[in-house]
Amino acid sequence: MTIKDKIEALREELREHNYNYYVLDNATITDYEFDIKLKELEKLEKEHPEFFDANSPTQRVGGGITKNFDTITHKNRMYSLDNSYSKEDLLDWEKRLQKNLGTTEIEYTCELKYDGASINLTFENGKFLRAVTRGDGFQGDDVTTNVKTIKSIPLIPKKDFLLDFEMRGEIILPLDGFNRMNEERVANGEEAYRNPRNTASGSLKLQDSSEVAKRPLDCLLYQVVTNERKYETHYESLEAARNSGFKVPQTIILAKNIDEVLEFVNSWDEKRHDLPYETDGVVVKVNNLLQQEELGYTSKSPRWAIAYKFKAEQVTTVLNEITYQVGRTGAITPVANLEPVHLAGTVVKRASLHNADQIEKLDIRLGDTVFVEKGGEIIPKIIKVDLSKRPENSVATVYATHCPECDTELIRTEGDAKHYCPNEFGCAPQITGRIQHFISRKAMDIDGLGGETVDLLRKEGLIKNYADLYELTKEQVIPLERMAEKSAQNMIDGIKKSKEIPFEKVLFALGIRFVGETVAKKLAKHFKSMDNLMQADFETLIAVDEIGDRIAKSILDFSSNEGNIELVKRLKSYGIQLEVSAESMENQTDKLKGKAFVVSGVFHQLSRNELKKAIEDNGGKVSSSISKKTDFVVAGDKMGPSKLAKAEDLGIAIISEQDFIDMIN
Ligand code: AMP
Ligand code: ZN
Repeated sequence: MTIKDKIEALREELREHNYNYYVLDNATITDYEFDIKLKELEKLEKEHPEFFDANSPTQRVGGGITKNFDTITHKNRMYSLDNSYSKEDLLDWEKRLQKNLGTTEIEYTCELKYDGASINLTFENGKFLRAVTRGDGFQGDDVTTNVKTIKSIPLIPKKDFLLDFEMRGEIILPLDGFNRMNEERVANGEEAYRNPRNTASGSLKLQDSSEVAKRPLDCLLYQVVTNERKYETHYESLEAARNSGFKVPQTIILAKNIDEVLEFVNSWDEKRHDLPYETDGVVVKVNNLLQQEELGYTSKSPRWAIAYKFKAEQVTTVLNEITYQVGRTGAITPVANLEPVHLAGTVVKRASLHNADQIEKLDIRLGDTVFVEKGGEIIPKIIKVDLSKRPENSVATVYATHCPECDTELIRTEGDAKHYCPNEFGCAPQITGRIQHFISRKAMDIDGLGGETVDLLRKEGLIKNYADLYELTKEQVIPLERMAEKSAQNMIDGIKKSKEIPFEKVLFALGIRFVGETVAKKLAKHFKSMDNLMQADFETLIAVDEIGDRIAKSILDFSSNEGNIELVKRLKSYGIQLEVSAESMENQTDKLKGKAFVVSGVFHQLSRNELKKAIEDNGGKVSSSISKKTDFVVAGDKMGPSKLAKAEDLGIAIISEQDFIDMIN
């Protein structure tokens, strides 16, 4: 046997042992024997560095340090899930599916919703390449070095699976491991970790991977993403993944209808407390992958999946006080200050009351005993008041009339649930909040400047708005508390670098009320520059797809405000991107302007996403279902029969992939 063969044989053997131990939970050798073999392999690899392999079992003990986690754009976006809470919600969902697919023959899978940190594992040519966190769904952090230490993840899956693919899953901290970690911490006089989920996601961002290796993390997989059309169903693809070495929990089942889904949910509502890890619900998915493709996505989540949340835990406590928080847009949120109470592993002291209507609806009063509930969300909710415990002579709550921060009279416009403080440029939390939003990751993504520093800079009078950031100098910030030469330089560099951020993100960063990420993208694409947007009138604005009265009014308010005009002018003078770049305009045409497309079936030259992008890049619009407004259906193989019938019925042009390509070239 050559040295190379020997090394390979040892690696293969250790991989199998890892699999038996970490995935199957069924060790076939002792830890000691394993260590001896691992040492032997380490020695051989050291003597023969020419046979180095990043995916060798020796590479899993950690040691690598990550200073900065690189931002990686996901090849396929990582979506959220819609939530459901009742049988009715699920039946509604089923109805939508049946309508969209034009069939009642839909099979489902039920999986538990594992409560940890989402991860995307990329494999290339059958080998593990990288692990990236979900981040904002479009981009995440490269945490490869840390994730590699999780031994239940196969770095080289067994043959017969796919070659190029992504595995999506959840990095979790099983409960006994979590408790063990906490016992150790407490014994060392350290503070206990609060919950497994946060500890799992925190672990991924540790700089020293050998620290990560010590933590009993695990990875449960729930989704295979690939362009290879090897499997027809979700269930089948997960079984194949499991057979090739991935830890796919055995709890997954197939369900023929919503009743069977509910049976699954009900059976786990109790049993889940015996699981070795935490779960807060069930994820139901359409099993057939072609049907999944047919259904597609909304702007936030797949239409083919839904989460069902287990009924949350409830406790009662007393309402001591209602205070009011001012957000960055001036929106007022009433907060219930509660008698502290234990709930789902944490102590709850506060709960959001949303708005004046909610307070009225609950008829909640000081001194009331209230039911508090906590689902997967971080902020607990007040469900109702226990009227039997209401103190005598209690008085109805009167909503605040003035801003708690600047004492300006609050306003509430017709049709708006929230009250606002109109003192946009003079109200401290609005000033700070707007700048914090401006620098945040999804906006200008300014490194080296955090939310607290923003508040400090404002208090010191160094900034009053986001434009002021660009005039800060190192000399000005060095004297600030906890600021050193280096951090000051980082901050100034980070601010400077944000001048490269593309227009759509800048537009989002400006913090115009109701202009979130998706709307900002739409507006940027449509108007191409801030000047065009600010000159648009009401009619022009609402003519844009998905821009309604509310958003249009808010944009007009923004554009007609002298303060904002001045700010935008200043941003422009500093070189901030206030129009779409030439680069992003490349390949963009108006060829399909005003035309609505529906894409259906399987394609060969372009992927479905590329096809949709091509439609949008050429000025067309992609919608998910066929209606009278549809101009073209681009039909691939295996187009859904109901869509075909509907298109024919409405006399809509059905074109092939090649027809489409000819159309844009
Ligand atoms: P949410 O963050 O509430 O929108 O829920 C979506 C997240 O649920 C995904 O990003 C996944 O990380 C997580 N998740 C946990 N278990 C599953 C599962 N079985 N299938 C799909 N997603 C899951
Ligand atoms: Zn105010």
